[in-house]
Amino acid sequence: MTTGDRRRAVGAALPAGTDAALVTNLTNVRYLTGFTGSNAALAVSRDGEAVLATDGRYDEQARAEVPDVALQITRTPAADLLRTLAASARGVAIDRRHVTLAMLDDLAAAAGHVELIRTDGLVETLRMSKDDDEIAALREACQITDAAFTDVLAELRPGKTEREISWRLLESMRRCGAEDAAFDSIVAFGPNSAIPHHRPTDRQLEHGDLVKLDFGALVRGYHADMTRTVVCGRPSAWQQDLHAQVLSVQERCRDAVTPGVAPVALDELARRLIDEVGPTLVHGLGHGVGLEIHERPFLVPNGDAAPLQTGMCVTIEPGIYLPGQGGVRIEDTVVVGSTGAEPLTQSSRELVAV
Ligand code: ZN
Ligand code: ZN
Repeated sequence: MTTGDRRRAVGAALPAGTDAALVTNLTNVRYLTGFTGSNAALAVSRDGEAVLATDGRYDEQARAEVPDVALQITRTPAADLLRTLAASARGVAIDRRHVTLAMLDDLAAAAGHVELIRTDGLVETLRMSKDDDEIAALREACQITDAAFTDVLAELRPGKTEREISWRLLESMRRCGAEDAAFDSIVAFGPNSAIPHHRPTDRQLEHGDLVKLDFGALVRGYHADMTRTVVCGRPSAWQQDLHAQVLSVQERCRDAVTPGVAPVALDELARRLIDEVGPTLVHGLGHGVGLEIHERPFLVPNGDAAPLQTGMCVTIEPGIYLPGQGGVRIEDTVVVGSTGAEPLTQSSRELVAV
């Protein structure tokens, strides 16, 4: 699928009464054009014709990255595109989630007689199903993530700090070809592993600690996301039980991923399975991944009810956390295939002892 195909899909999805979409979110602009600069807006008409606007700093970059779209250089991309559209359009779709009050004031001043029609996730809806190029980027990002996990297992020994391991993960991913880490890596030792989104500290690894690693690589703008929990030394009985419980929930939820199942139903399944063993799931079961680390569909309570479709990429990440003691989370990035979930992250999910 080319970016031109994506722009035509936006044109086809425009609501009644609109002649064009004014796309102001940079991730959506990137999805629709390939442009990676930090200031831009894009106008897309019903037939998929488009104009990209950016400022002078990105003139050369825009011509190189987006040779197939008309370019307008301006200091105020969104307002100027709207002014151009106002010459012929009556209704222009704009996403309510991506406009600040300041931008809305500027747009209202530029709109003239054009009616601004609010949409909600027009482009994000299209972004949910990944094409082959996107899946290839995610697959590569996940392979690098797996390689970094193998690397760092050899580094984990008593005395190492969470910060050192976090740095090592980044170094390893960059060496394997990642542009960057997909997000700040979570490295949590011992009781810290019970904090779902712990930030790495100078806590040193000790014998008997659970080690929770949640990290991923960024490749061509696409985000991998994986969590593994291992143990320093021989695992105790409670650690083995906790790990086995989470692994069982994760496997059953992965098995339940199939085209046609609602994301919210998968979250409910995880919640029911974890309730059976006692604690509650304190976060959502998972989320879509792509050009953003967290994107639709969301596998959370009150999340997306629209069913999963082939080509969607989501995480499955149940966790159980025992405050003051330790926690286990196991997370994979998976792609929804015609017969079920294909895990793109493939590191061992066993309770590895380091
Ligand atoms: Zn994660
Ligand atoms: Zn995640």
